[in-house]
Amino acid sequence: MNKPHNIYIHVPFCIKKCNYCAFYSRACPEPDWDSYAAKIIDELKIFGQILGRVPVPTIFFGGGTPSLMPEKIFAKILNEIHANFDITHDAEITLEANPGTLPISKLDEFCNIGMNRLSVGVQSLDDKKLQFLGRIHNAHDATMLLESAINRGIRVSADFIYGLPGDSVSDVIKTCCQINDMGISHCSMYELTIEPNTPFGQMQMDMPTNEVMAEMYMAIGQNLNLPRYEVSNYAAPGNECRHNQNVWDGDAYIGIGEGAAGRIFVNDTWYEQLGGGKLFEKMTNETRAMERIITGMRTMRGVLLDEWVKKIINIEFAKSHSDMLGFNGNRLFATDKGIIVLDDLITKLVK
Ligand code: SF4
Repeated sequence: MNKPHNIYIHVPFCIKKCNYCAFYSRACPEPDWDSYAAKIIDELKIFGQILGRVPVPTIFFGGGTPSLMPEKIFAKILNEIHANFDITHDAEITLEANPGTLPISKLDEFCNIGMNRLSVGVQSLDDKKLQFLGRIHNAHDATMLLESAINRGIRVSADFIYGLPGDSVSDVIKTCCQINDMGISHCSMYELTIEPNTPFGQMQMDMPTNEVMAEMYMAIGQNLNLPRYEVSNYAAPGNECRHNQNVWDGDAYIGIGEGAAGRIFVNDTWYEQLGGGKLFEKMTNETRAMERIITGMRTMRGVLLDEWVKKIINIEFAKSHSDMLGFNGNRLFATDKGIIVLDDLITKLVK
């Protein structure tokens, strides 16, 4: 039996593009869902043939805006995954949602079909900021969706963006207090970065300085009731996103849909997916180990020191920099001090 593979399904459609967004997505409020589902189903079949009925511990519908999908398309895709793979009995099935696109009746239907984790793009709880970001919803829509999902008993996550022009440290602290009050067990806090090919990239933006951004980052760690488990992710123990943790840890994952990346493992060899289940490139164990160091070191539990990782890192360097690097069993992690200079640290850590 081959290794378990996590599955990522990309849904690239949105009602409109947000002003900051450089993700692989496009404004297309009424896509041809049947033809997109047919492409996804074709790809799932191809991977089923390549890998056999491997266990699938997590499925993540990301975007874009997967919550735009009609319920029957979601059901059809999940059925096809069932038909080709062994979805484990406790599999985590996440759907990313834009609050402007998920009425309560649809949320219920998605839960009935099998979704058990909802990741909501809230971004801000201030309507003026939401407008500035180009979001299609207001703060009330977002909090109503979060509340309904929490009441439904599924696991819930919320994404926020901080560091907008004019944002202060006290704004960030206020958001943290609101998150604490809502009783969310997982959130992602992303610093606003200005990407060139976006409306924000064409504007003159008066961004907070790097020092203020760093203060905001510290304030999040101090004011949120949820412990940080990755550079930008916070969760009550046991509520971490299993899909992302598996991917960051270096487990295999299949990317399905336009623009989706994947790393699959067949006959003792790693392959990088290059296109729609039809094009693959072999990866060396060293390249995979390097990827695992980059993603694993961003997590608080750190990178697993397996034989390939051990071959390419300088353990002596790690031992002699105990203020920035620590060992926990068979894992190496960056301390709070190390996380701040992580890229530089990794360059020095790798032989
Ligand atoms: S909804 Fe998400 S993926 Fe779509 S444009 Fe906005 S940020 Fe990008």
